[in-house]
Amino acid sequence: MTTKLGFHLLRIGHCSHPECVTQRGGRLGSVPFPALAGLLLHPHFGPMLFDTGYDDAFFAATQPFPERLYRLVTPVSLTSSETLHVQLARHGIALQDIRHVFLSHLHADHIAGIGELPNARFFAMRDEVDAMRRASRIGGLRRGYLRTLLPESFDARLTCADDCGRVTLPPAMHPFRYGFDLLGDASVIGIPLPGHTPGQLGILFQTSGDQTVFLVADACWSLEAVRQDKPPSWIAARLFSDKRAYLATFAGLRVLLGRNDGLTIVPSHCELTWRRLSRELR
Ligand SMILES: [Zn+2]
Repeated sequence: MTTKLGFHLLRIGHCSHPECVTQRGGRLGSVPFPALAGLLLHPHFGPMLFDTGYDDAFFAATQPFPERLYRLVTPVSLTSSETLHVQLARHGIALQDIRHVFLSHLHADHIAGIGELPNARFFAMRDEVDAMRRASRIGGLRRGYLRTLLPESFDARLTCADDCGRVTLPPAMHPFRYGFDLLGDASVIGIPLPGHTPGQLGILFQTSGDQTVFLVADACWSLEAVRQDKPPSWIAARLFSDKRAYLATFAGLRVLLGRNDGLTIVPSHCELTWRRLSRELR
């Protein structure tokens, strides 16, 4: 990976869950789960996003029943200063400047803002898009998909990550062994992280600050849980598309963390990672 990217982490709203749902042995009380998105600054392709977090579109999509159950089960907060367009504006970026969006998966808390990005190409795994397409309104809702969040032009603007050039990952990334060269210049490598959904995708890139960053979305909900080998409880695990694959992915992250060789792993909902990195990346 030769092209280095500017990197900022954005917190675009949060939801609340009892900790014991997302971590075996966790507390009963409600804890905040930030919805993190990555802002990547590419010297040639310009500003790019990894996921979008929440958006007003989420509240519109969950206004009717049965979709309203989604926000009743996981109450969501999004202040005006946290919205995507306000945060991008702080970096001098307009919504229409975004031309590449890497979608880890199609759960509503990761894609709610894509309708606001008129010029973006979307990258996602084929299995993920197919799973959302196949799901019924109720079945999709039970899996965390809100189809009304997809713009009408989604299919025309989609690149399946699996169609990008396949690359072999270096030993430092094992047991993750392969990925996809999403932009064709080896600057952003998409890495399959199966189990949470049928086609979850993480991305690996090098920052201009010489950090190697691995954005892992919902492959785990906190790094502490990975360190302590505490995968989510059976309640959350029931929502996963493939529990065995999820546990294999989770175990892979544990190997990477244990190697402790400077790789920065960023889950999408880890409050401690957010606190640490938002200070470092400021
Ligand atoms: Zn998810």
